Amino acid sequence: MDYIFPGSIPSVAICNSTQRFPVHRIYCVGKNYADHALEMGGDPDQDPPCFFSKPADAIVCNSEDVPFPSRTDELHYEVELVLAIGSEAKAVSTSEALNYLFGYAVGIDLTRRDLQRAAKNAGRPWDVAKGFDGSAPISSIHSVQDIGYLEQAAISLTLNGEVRQQGNIANMTWKVPEIIAELSTYFSLQPGDLIFTGTPAGVGVVQPGDEIIGSVEGLDQVKVRVT
Ligand code: MN
Repeated sequence: MDYIFPGSIPSVAICNSTQRFPVHRIYCVGKNYADHALEMGGDPDQDPPCFFSKPADAIVCNSEDVPFPSRTDELHYEVELVLAIGSEAKAVSTSEALNYLFGYAVGIDLTRRDLQRAAKNAGRPWDVAKGFDGSAPISSIHSVQDIGYLEQAAISLTLNGEVRQQGNIANMTWKVPEIIAELSTYFSLQPGDLIFTGTPAGVGVVQPGDEIIGSVEGLDQVKVRVT
C-alpha cells in the first residue's frame, strides 16, 4: 500500500515496512468489555457499547513521553486493541468488514476520569475527558498480511512493572467485524482511520513519572512514560 506522507500528518510506524500509516481519524469504542462496564458502575446487559473519538494528533508513538495533562487529578490508563483501516468502508456488513482492515496495534486510551464522571453526570460530551493532547499512545502497526487475523489474544497492561489489566480480546462485546460494520453506518471509514476497541477491567490512576506498557499477544508493545 502506498501512502503520501506530508510532514504535518500524524503517522504511526508499520512493522516490516519503510512506510508509515498516516492517521486520518481516531474512533474509540466505550464499554466493550462487560467486566470494565461493571467496574465503571454500568450494566452491560442494559447498556451497549458506544462510540466516541479523539483528534488524530492525539497519538503518541511508542517510547515517547506523555506530558501529564492539565485540568485533571485523576488520569487513568486503558489498554486497548487498535484497528487500522486500510480502505474506504461505508455501511459494510459484518461478513465483509474484515476486508477493510489493514492491521492491528496496541493503544492506551488515556482518560481524565474526573472530567468524564462530571460529563456523564451532567449529560455533556466526553471531548475534554478523552480527546486531550497526548491521549492516544500507540504501538507500531502489524499488517494483516504479516500476521493474519486476531480472534483471541491476551491483552494486558503493566504500570511500573506491575500487572494492572489482564484480559482477552475474545471477550469484547462487539467483535472486530461488528465494530467496523456498526461504525461504518455512522461514518465513511477511510484509510488511515484508527479504532480503539475498548478496555478490559483493571483501569486505574497514572501519576507523573509512571511507566505504562500495553501488550497484546502477537503484537509489539506500546511503552510510554508520563512526565
Ligand atoms: Mn477506552
